[in-house]
Amino acid sequence: LSATPAKAETTYTIGTDVTFPPFEFANKQNKYVGIDMDLIRAIAKNQGFKVKIKPVGFNAAVQSVQSGQLDGVIAGMSITKEREATFDFSKPYFTSGVVMAVAKNSKITKLSQLKGKKVAVKTGTSGADYANSIKNKYGFKVVTFDDSNNMYEDVMTGNSAACFEDSPVMRYGIKQGTKLKIVTKPAENGSYGFAVEKGHNQKLLKSFNKGLANLKANGQYKKITEKYLGKDA
Ligand code: GLN
Repeated sequence: LSATPAKAETTYTIGTDVTFPPFEFANKQNKYVGIDMDLIRAIAKNQGFKVKIKPVGFNAAVQSVQSGQLDGVIAGMSITKEREATFDFSKPYFTSGVVMAVAKNSKITKLSQLKGKKVAVKTGTSGADYANSIKNKYGFKVVTFDDSNNMYEDVMTGNSAACFEDSPVMRYGIKQGTKLKIVTKPAENGSYGFAVEKGHNQKLLKSFNKGLANLKANGQYKKITEKYLGKDA
């Protein structure tokens, strides 16, 4: 019962996607959970800072960090050369790639079958960049959505012939009942990182890296990924 005054801990506002399971999603109690959420909270605890999670959507989170309105973003965000021009990334914490998914009853199995069709993507993502980089070659049209659920919906209703989504997210979603199937091997393979605005919040970035290393060493990282992915982790 000693009255040790609590050391004032810095609170950082962290942006994330609205729904990107198993990395971030609202559970039945409407609390944000998932690998990214558990990781950032465990790292904050390990390093003695506090986080306020802002599930504003992927593109909004990325832009809010760039404009200094949020301190950092953790949203299954891929570390890319282009983004490194405006962001400082943490050490990578998860590997991922982009897959093409189609409706369960679709006969489409490859990119060349997308000619003259629509493809759904999520604004500001590497999946969207990938689609835009190959749309002329394969002759498809890109339609954009702000979140993954609306993107899937467009494919399930048959408006779009396919969507491009991160492989671990699409696999998890399909396991949970999303009525799509994956038809390609992961492309654009890379890693997820926590990001801050370039040159800003360097203390937060350092703490993230230290905390991540500690969580990897003490088994907590493994526990978190296995909690959501089981033996797939
Ligand atoms: N990994 C992808 C990217 O960084 C998608 C992230 C997301 O949709 N939350 O663009």
